[in-house]
Amino acid sequence: MSRHCLTIAVHLLLFFCWLICAYGQSAQPAVKLMTMGKPVAARAGLLTDRLTPRELEKWRTIENIVFAEDQNHQPWHPTLRGLWEWIEASGHTVYVEVVRSNRIATCTAGTFTIERFDPRGERHVAVIKLNLANIDQAFVGEATRRADGFIPFAKLNRAERYAEVLGHELAHAVHILTNLERSRVVEDVVQQTNQLLLSHHARRREASLTQDLKRRLTKRDSFLKELEAQAEAMEKVVWGELIRSKGSREKLPDLAEKP
Ligand SMILES: [Zn+2]
Repeated sequence: MSRHCLTIAVHLLLFFCWLICAYGQSAQPAVKLMTMGKPVAARAGLLTDRLTPRELEKWRTIENIVFAEDQNHQPWHPTLRGLWEWIEASGHTVYVEVVRSNRIATCTAGTFTIERFDPRGERHVAVIKLNLANIDQAFVGEATRRADGFIPFAKLNRAERYAEVLGHELAHAVHILTNLERSRVVEDVVQQTNQLLLSHHARRREASLTQDLKRRLTKRDSFLKELEAQAEAMEKVVWGELIRSKGSREKLPDLAEKP
C-alpha cells in the first residue's frame, strides 16, 4: 500500500472504522445484521474458533498484554481487561477474526459487526475483525493527530497497537450490546440504510441518490459519529494504560515483543 493511501487510511482509521473508503458515500455496510442464515452460537463470550493456529499465536500475545498484572496482581490495563471481561460474562457471542484480504479498499484497522440480532437482547452474535496488516503499516504522526490531541498508536509496538485497536472494537461491542435500544437503532438506522445504498449502487450506479436515501444517510452518519466518539474516548484511555505499563512489561520475558 502506498504511503499516500496509508495517510488517507489513517485519517479514516478508527475515526470511521466501520466504513470502507472505496466509495464516496461509504457504500460498504458499516454494520451487518443478519437474522437468518447463521446458526445460533452455542457458546457465549469472546470466541477464537475462527482463527488459524498462526493467528491464534498472535491473539495469545494480545491476550497476554490485556491480562498483564503487576507484582501485587493488580491489572495494568483495567479498562481494556474490563471490556474483555464484560463480553465474557454478557451472554452474547463475539467472534474474533483476522482480516486476510489485502484489498486496498479495506483501509480500516478493525470492525465490529453484529451478525445475528436477538430481538430479546439476550444472545446477540457479533464479530470483531482486526486488520493486522493495516495496523502494522499505519502511519503514525502529526497527520493522524485527532482533534483532542491524541495520536493513535504513538509510541506503541506492534502487539500493543493490536491491543489498542482491540480496545476500540471492544468498546463498540460493549456500548452497543449492553443496550437493546441502541442495538435496535444500529439495526434500523445503519443496516437498513446500508442495504438500500448497496442496492441503489447495484441497480443505478450512476444515478443520484433519492431524497429519502440522502436523509437516511445523514441520520446513519450522525449515529455512527456518536458511536465513534464513544469508542475513540475509550481507545485513548486504553492507549494511556498501555503507555503507563510499557516500561514494566518490557522487563518481563513473556511480554517483551518478539522479533
Ligand atoms: Zn470505531
